[in-house]
Amino acid sequence: MSFYYYDNDECKFVPIEYSTVDRLIHTASQLLLYGIVITGIMISLIVSFAGTPAEIALKAENRELQSQLRHTKTTIVRLDEQLARMAYTDNEIYRTMLGLEPLSYDERLAGTGGFDMMSRLDVYQAQTSDLLRWTLSNIESLERRVNIQQLSFDEIKYFYNQNQDKMRHIPAIRPINSIITSGFGPRMHPVYRFRRPHEGVDFRARIGTPIYATGDGIITMAGMNGTYGITIKIDHGFGYESLYAHLSRVETGLRVGRSVSRGDLIGFTGDTGVVEGPHLHYEIIRDGVPVDPINYMFADLSPEEYIAFRRIADSNDRSMD
Ligand SMILES: [Zn+2]
Repeated sequence: MSFYYYDNDECKFVPIEYSTVDRLIHTASQLLLYGIVITGIMISLIVSFAGTPAEIALKAENRELQSQLRHTKTTIVRLDEQLARMAYTDNEIYRTMLGLEPLSYDERLAGTGGFDMMSRLDVYQAQTSDLLRWTLSNIESLERRVNIQQLSFDEIKYFYNQNQDKMRHIPAIRPINSIITSGFGPRMHPVYRFRRPHEGVDFRARIGTPIYATGDGIITMAGMNGTYGITIKIDHGFGYESLYAHLSRVETGLRVGRSVSRGDLIGFTGDTGVVEGPHLHYEIIRDGVPVDPINYMFADLSPEEYIAFRRIADSNDRSMD
């Protein structure tokens, strides 16, 4: 079989010789070769700038993991704060109040480890490996502290069950349905105008607000008491007393020697004695020494309320007395 081409000069079909076909094939294969080389260069350029599809996917995954890791770090910081608050409440309120030895903060943080795990993290980028190392060591620390907290709560529960009679007597609720306006400790006296120890807390209350016994006990005072005005005092036993001052009146029939239960109505707020205005001044006395009453409201204050009360009490430098 022969191939022809049309020759314009001679106006006729001329057979193509073998050498012509050979040349055409040669040219075509050269073009093909250039094409392959250029395509190859372009692919390698694209890969070096953007990465292979697998690399692109890995990079996206890596970014996602890093963002998750940062989110985890935020969560850990928050948990750490909550746990510290819980440990504080546990030590300063529950354990102290129940007469249990507080756990030292070193004890709560006790124990180290995980170094084998840590050294394996060195293979990653410095920034990532730092973040991973931080996360792992903090998770371990949280785990330890949660375990210790759990043990402490178990001990408190056991103690409570073994001492239910004592628990009913120790003041453990708010004496009035109101908020604290001034805390325990040195405060500016509103009438005398100098700083002196404020041996209780003040609750905001208009005249005639009901006051309740904060634990079971026996009335040891119910009447006028100098600058404290009309005052009620309850002996709870176990070394605890509570005092309610500046009342407008004592509940009818309440006399010295009568026993009361936690939650019993004992009197009404007023402004008797030396005061700036109507309020309830409330004290807790333990073994003859006034202590901070905020720590003796654990039966009806949530941890959030406790912190709010503490903040208000600490921020106000003036008592109503
Ligand atoms: Zn006061």
